[in-house]
Amino acid sequence: MSYQHLKERSHYEEMYDKFTVEWCRRFEEPRPISDEELETSTELSLSQIQWCHDLSTDWLIFQEAGNRWLRRKETIQEWMERDKRRDQMVERAQVPLVRCPSCGKAMDCVYTDVRSDIDSDREWLEFFLCCKPCKQGKDVYENGSKVPRKPILCEKCNREVETDIKKKKGKRYYIETCKHCGHVEEALSTLDEKKKEPTQEEIDRYEHDKKRFCLTDQQGQRYKSWKEQMKHLDDEEKAQEANAEFYDKLAEVKKLNIAGLEKLLKPVLKKAGYADLHFAMSPPAQQIILTFSVRDMEERREEYDSRKTLEKTIEGLLEDKNWALTTEGVSYRLGMLDGRIRGYESKEDLEQLTKSRMKKKGKLVTVTQSKSSQYASMLPEDIGL
Ligand SMILES: [Zn+2]
Ligand SMILES: [Zn+2]
Repeated sequence: MSYQHLKERSHYEEMYDKFTVEWCRRFEEPRPISDEELETSTELSLSQIQWCHDLSTDWLIFQEAGNRWLRRKETIQEWMERDKRRDQMVERAQVPLVRCPSCGKAMDCVYTDVRSDIDSDREWLEFFLCCKPCKQGKDVYENGSKVPRKPILCEKCNREVETDIKKKKGKRYYIETCKHCGHVEEALSTLDEKKKEPTQEEIDRYEHDKKRFCLTDQQGQRYKSWKEQMKHLDDEEKAQEANAEFYDKLAEVKKLNIAGLEKLLKPVLKKAGYADLHFAMSPPAQQIILTFSVRDMEERREEYDSRKTLEKTIEGLLEDKNWALTTEGVSYRLGMLDGRIRGYESKEDLEQLTKSRMKKKGKLVTVTQSKSSQYASMLPEDIGL
């Protein structure tokens, strides 16, 4: 015997909608105006604050209900697939051969159960085996090993209790009896607790709330397009902000020649413990690349520290300059460090440099044509005036 997991779709739909109603109802529970709300809106009267408060609650519920609709189909599908998988697990299960400790015959499987762990998504099978003539029972895993059970302890004396199930007036009760101190604990089975029929008033209220919180497909589609529009507007705003920042940063880039670069680096590197800054130039090519070397003055600084400190110092100094450390970073040998610094000269190069610096900070710039080149095309000399 085992539990049939997969049910009709309507079962999952009802379950999902029930969660939605319960979830949205929570936002409607009276919530007092917080001190923060009072503090931030000093110019408003209490009734005005209350009005804003109610409005924000409505707004929140509108989005919560909408988002529940967006996830509805997918979630129900997931639930059904999970239950189908569980049924298949039970179907394919091989009942382990376990012998009765009294008569030595193979024990019969009374119940197969799929257990799961919410935290790890792990699912496994447990079998309840028994030998009726000998009144022996065992809970085992698929490999036949015993399922460990945490002993239930007595509330009063903290020693293990004996458990039993009793039926009273058609309801099941769990009885825990302590043989040590005589304490008895009785609890109604949660399954029977749930069986409590809702009153007509509760049914009416549920139907009413369901209409408010569970969106029809038409309402859901409208919500979906509204949300997409909002996202689009938000993305545009972010892109505009990033672009504005891009032009600010581009204008801030200080152009230094090699002498200026050397003058900037030397004292700061010396302060960080690096001496003898030397530059070597490769023959002029499309890119201006300077090879540099320094000597670490600190005897105890290890390779990793030495490299990282130098890279950080240089990058910090060049953050808003037209020079940048090349991507391979610096290398280290016995306290001698060297690396390459690239100079950016043309407008396109500087734009590229600024973009990549912003990208490193997680800001995406979408500018394809630079403002300056747009303007440049309008300069009088370009038109031949
Ligand atoms: Zn037996
Ligand atoms: Zn006890």
